[in-house]
Amino acid sequence: MHRAPQSGGGSGIGQAVAQRLAKEGAAIAVVDLNESAANETVQMLSCDQSGQKHMAFVADISSSENVEKLMSQIQSCFSRPPCISVNSAGITRDEFLLRLTEEAFDTVLKVNLKGTFLITQAVARALVASGTSQGSIINLGSIVGKVGNLGQINYAASKAGVEALTKTAAKELARYGIRCNSVLPGFINTPMTQKVPQKVLDKVAGMIPLGRLGDPSDVADVCAFLASDDSSYITGASIEVTGGLYL
Ligand code: NAD
Repeated sequence: MHRAPQSGGGSGIGQAVAQRLAKEGAAIAVVDLNESAANETVQMLSCDQSGQKHMAFVADISSSENVEKLMSQIQSCFSRPPCISVNSAGITRDEFLLRLTEEAFDTVLKVNLKGTFLITQAVARALVASGTSQGSIINLGSIVGKVGNLGQINYAASKAGVEALTKTAAKELARYGIRCNSVLPGFINTPMTQKVPQKVLDKVAGMIPLGRLGDPSDVADVCAFLASDDSSYITGASIEVTGGLYL
């Protein structure tokens, strides 16, 4: 296992993925807009005694300038381009359709969809330029991108876009040995969902066939599988990690 940049690695699912991949011996580039969160993740990883070098990088993945700079920083710190990339950075700005502002729509699309595009493109370009014949790009979509959700028009549209973008990238990049897959979580217990009122979370948990909200490690396990050679014949897939919600 080699270099694995984690966008959104400062919190929730991204942090759990970073921990899981580091345990398997990967050197992790923890990328986040939030500097202290990224540093905190690197500190956690550094306790794992694997001897790997993990580093924090501050970047806004929705800015092409930031992503370009980020990729050259990662390549110069780790000497090679990342062969695993997990794009977990994402935001919500929930509001019902009748009240949603154009600004809230654009902001969510810019981070979730354009940000995923920029990171996917930058990693793919670096891998192709390096002549490698192996890579795994994993993008975090959401089950909401498939089934919709009240008050999440912008988020649902962005995540449907992430799934479509990932499938298309999979087709284009297969010839270079680069696999692209998306993971579609349901309700996972992270700072993102901690904003949801407890009453709603309890109701959702009651609707989940497996009887509980997901843990970030449930998603990290699937990302680790998609990063590994165990999934070497899987590309363009969207794997739902929902405990059976919305079957
Ligand atoms: P989180 O809020 O805990 O973490 C998101 C991280 O992304 C934060 O550290 C934040 O600083 C970072 N970030 C936000 N905007 C950024 C930007 N422009 N550039 C760089 N970093 C940025 O969220 P989470 O629950 O861990 O979610 C991770 C991913 O999984 C998101 O894409 C989310 O949409 C998706 N997801 C989460 C759930 C869930 O239930 N938690 C469900 C489905 C999908």
